[in-house]
Amino acid sequence: MQLKDPTLLRQQAYVNGQWADADNGESIVVTNPATREKLGTVPNMGTAETRRAIEAANAAWPAWRKKTAKERAAVLRKWYDLITENADDLALLMTTEQGKPLAEAKGEVAFGAGFIEWFAEEAKRIAGDTLQSPWPDKRLVVTKEPIGVCAAITPWNFPIAMITRKAGPALAAGCPMVLKPAEATPFSALALAVLAERAGVPPGVFSVVTGAPKEIGAEMCSNPIVRKLTFTGSTQVGRILMQQCAPTIKKLSLELGGNAPFIVFDDADLDAAVEGAIASKYRNAGQTCVCANRIYVQDGVYEAFAAKFTAAVKQLKVGNGVEPGVTQGPLIDDKAVQKVEQHVADALAKGGRLLTGGHRHALGHSFFEPTVIADVTDQMIVASEETFGPLAPLFRFKTDDEAIALANSTEFGLAAYFYSRDIGRVWRVAEGLESGMVGVNTGLISTDVAPFGGVKQSGLGREGSKYGIDDYLVIKYICLGGI
Ligand code: ADP
Repeated sequence: MQLKDPTLLRQQAYVNGQWADADNGESIVVTNPATREKLGTVPNMGTAETRRAIEAANAAWPAWRKKTAKERAAVLRKWYDLITENADDLALLMTTEQGKPLAEAKGEVAFGAGFIEWFAEEAKRIAGDTLQSPWPDKRLVVTKEPIGVCAAITPWNFPIAMITRKAGPALAAGCPMVLKPAEATPFSALALAVLAERAGVPPGVFSVVTGAPKEIGAEMCSNPIVRKLTFTGSTQVGRILMQQCAPTIKKLSLELGGNAPFIVFDDADLDAAVEGAIASKYRNAGQTCVCANRIYVQDGVYEAFAAKFTAAVKQLKVGNGVEPGVTQGPLIDDKAVQKVEQHVADALAKGGRLLTGGHRHALGHSFFEPTVIADVTDQMIVASEETFGPLAPLFRFKTDDEAIALANSTEFGLAAYFYSRDIGRVWRVAEGLESGMVGVNTGLISTDVAPFGGVKQSGLGREGSKYGIDDYLVIKYICLGGI
């Protein structure tokens, strides 16, 4: 990996403004999923190091919260500028440890930096309220304060953006943050820490602890200093963390699993629907929580859509993400491939019709062929479980009510998409879908400006947008008497 600035690749964790190894001297290996080459190591930290990071955050909190919003915004703006200036290196680092095509990695760096810029601006717009008093001699005032020390646990599928959309609002609101990035993608997180340090984020305000998920997570959840935990990952781990946070009643933001339905109605612009489905399904090799997981196509256009969609899928180019023209990189690891294989085998055993793909790719490792299966039914695993890989299952439906019922028939409710040109249907379906986000005639919805989050077992809280900072603030009511 040829970085323009090799100092962005750090093999130590960043705790209280110091680059540090694990107390026990152990480290964990980070590999390139496209080549299986070892990229380097990061410290295998645990409970003690996490506790020190939390205590340092607490010590740094008073000075950070006392800064004016404008002062905090200036530091965040500098961080944003540095991320943007180093976008090429950050993208290369990300592709190398995560696998996504370089163009997608560059897109993520810009998307991720956007959260820092957005919340730098939002810092200045945290405003309280004055309420009508029911008493002539009292005045009622509401202020908003930073919640305090925040802990964050992030996944490997968006190694930068999942961090910035937590750290951006936390720091803007006046909260310090201790982060545990995913084991597979710590280098992107540590590069962000390098740039935070250069931007003037004070020691302790942003720490990155790498290592053992269970130990670090348990300390973050049980330590009473931590007032809030923000997590992006699986629903299964989200449940564990919620349980672990119960004794200390922490505020929680949980961005959990999705199982996004993608509905194509008879009146859809089929070419646009194909384009949207490709973008939604195969981005990041199908490894995003808002990827279309179940594609429902209305009877009248089913075969036409299946043919056009399959033709477009055959155009995708699988390979190492650093090579030009590649549109689909490797999956993150073998476990991820096994899950796709299991979903494919189950669908085919129960009557699914393979239109393309279906196997591990000739490139080996964790590369998988972009796959389309038709005649999928709700009896198959893909109907209820998130595949998190490049498998598009095509279900058939007849009526709008049936489509809405099928779309809502999971425990998840993150993103949903549909294509239709009938304005009445657009409203009815958008309102009928049980999900935190709906894409109408588009397969791409994420932006720093809009609120991202789910309903049902897809999570709690919203990230990004003018709503995203509320998750890091608490309301204080001041009753001023004796007037
Ligand atoms: P994914 O399937 O996307 O890897 P996970 O929920 O397993 O989702 O992982 C998301 C993040 O949660 C990662 O940083 C991982 O290290 C962390 N994690 C996994 N298990 C635990 C746990 N028991 N406690 C705390 N963090 C965990």
